[in-house]
Amino acid sequence: MLRLTDIKLPLHHNDTELRSAVLSKLPVAEHELLGLHIYKRSYDARKKHNILLIYLLDIELSPSAEQRVLTQFSGKSFIGSSPDTHYHFVGHAPSNFPSPEQQRPIVIGFGPCGILAALVLAQMGLKPIVLDRGQDVRQRTKDTWGLWRERKLNTESNVQYGEGGAGTFSDGKLYSQVKDRRFLGRKVMTEFVKAGAPEEILMVSKPHIGTFKLVKMVENIRAEITRLGGEIRFNSKVETLHRDAGDDKNGHITGVTLSDGSHLPSRHVILAVGHSARDTFEMLLAQGVYLEAKPFSIGFRIEHPQSVIDAARFGDNAGNPILGAADYKLVHHCKNGRSVYSFCMCPGGTVVAATSEEGRVVTNGMSQYSRNERNANSAIVVGIEPEKDYPEHVLAGIDLQRQLESLAYQLGGENYNAPAQLVGDYLRNTPSTELGKVIPSYKPGVSLGDLSLALPDFANAAIREAIPAFDRQIKGFAMNDAILTGIETRTSSPICIKRGRDYQNLNTKGLYPAGEGAGYAGGILSAGIDGIKVAEAVAIDLLGLDMAI
Ligand code: FAD
Repeated sequence: MLRLTDIKLPLHHNDTELRSAVLSKLPVAEHELLGLHIYKRSYDARKKHNILLIYLLDIELSPSAEQRVLTQFSGKSFIGSSPDTHYHFVGHAPSNFPSPEQQRPIVIGFGPCGILAALVLAQMGLKPIVLDRGQDVRQRTKDTWGLWRERKLNTESNVQYGEGGAGTFSDGKLYSQVKDRRFLGRKVMTEFVKAGAPEEILMVSKPHIGTFKLVKMVENIRAEITRLGGEIRFNSKVETLHRDAGDDKNGHITGVTLSDGSHLPSRHVILAVGHSARDTFEMLLAQGVYLEAKPFSIGFRIEHPQSVIDAARFGDNAGNPILGAADYKLVHHCKNGRSVYSFCMCPGGTVVAATSEEGRVVTNGMSQYSRNERNANSAIVVGIEPEKDYPEHVLAGIDLQRQLESLAYQLGGENYNAPAQLVGDYLRNTPSTELGKVIPSYKPGVSLGDLSLALPDFANAAIREAIPAFDRQIKGFAMNDAILTGIETRTSSPICIKRGRDYQNLNTKGLYPAGEGAGYAGGILSAGIDGIKVAEAVAIDLLGLDMAI
């Protein structure tokens, strides 16, 4: 099989043209082209009246044609042997695992990172015990709707906590910019497809699943982990990590204690608690686990009519089913030295209430697979960093998040409404009193006013400079009636739980910090990839394998 890159065809083309494009690029006769498989399809919409589809293909040629092509194009990057994208396990446990001297590995957190870590451990025969503080995904869905519909927050079962993790009520975007030489992202996607995700996620360049499909998929993966001997416990918050004496600063993990007082021994604990487990971060610091503060971003959600974004990006091709609802990705470097960028863009979606703490308001975005809601939304955020913006102590970023989220709660009217303002009013620095054409999608509701009160001055200055700049790329971005809703603070983890090359915490052996909360992922796919890596690291140590990853 050969991999052929960079085949470009107009948006409206047929299958025969794809085959013809291959034959015109290679010295191959029609009868020598035995098979053609689309590995990835993306598009180039820079010229919206001439949108191109770009293919990465796996092609099967007769043996003589393959040899001829390889010889003629030796050293050329556009064609070569197809790489092996299958996943290969680092090892497998003996059937009697765990022997009396061994303990089962523990995975804390059943978000994308913990899910993939637990699945891969289970597939290797290592029978993980998974602990998540939240509820199973069905109960969690009800609890989450409790905030959105009835203003009732369950602090242990919500958008951030519970089966499936933070991305369960999301757009389910599945792409990332992490380097992935071992095709671990393919393993994540393949498992998702086995569990019910649409097969096209393996092929399109910007796949997404949407929230409903995610819920079913997560349940199916849970069933598979259980079938392989793993165990998954919900409503199981880890309150204490135990380390053996070691010296003052270093030790080895020996087990965990749960909020119900029960104790589980283990010398291999994967910590995949996400970016919102603030109480857990406090506990880790108190236990002496090595942590560092890290940068994150703050800002607002912006909503436009999806039709405005579609028209700006796709022109007359707006609505084409291959393109779907248009997205965007924007960055602006401001005069005050800050950078503003769009983040977690959800085409045809809704803005959601995403707090896990009482008396606070946090926004985020989600959508269904169809992405056919009226509005497009995205976070518009400003990067901040510990040295400049929260230098006081290692958890000062959390203090800042809490302070901003509480302020947003007050500005919203202290009933979980989010504060909101029309973009035109925000740019003119006038409080909003009336909605325009764009109806905000945030539930339970918004309170119009002066949203600039929710952010520090430097952040407002940066966003006020960025929005008109974004309008030059996406016509209509600065439209008067677009809505800003506050506040975005959970863009990534405010801390990094540092690990070494062996994936273990710098001063706590046996503790494998992973995923978004530990600062090693940002998004569903990269969290899943990181989950696989830590599962491998645990297997290598637990099974005494002589290898490195
Ligand atoms: P999480 O998913 O946060 O999972 C952590 C888990 O740990 C939780 O289930 C929590 O209950 C559990 N936990 C925490 N503390 C403890 C404890 N002490 N004991 C036991 N369990 C504990 N990313 C994308 O790539 N695409 C998107 O479209 C997208 N949309 C999003 C929409 C929303 C509304 C949100 C909130 C996030 C979205 N994200 C999206 C981000 C994505 O969800 C995260 O990057 C990803 O979930 C991180 O995975 P994780 O496994 O590291 O952590």
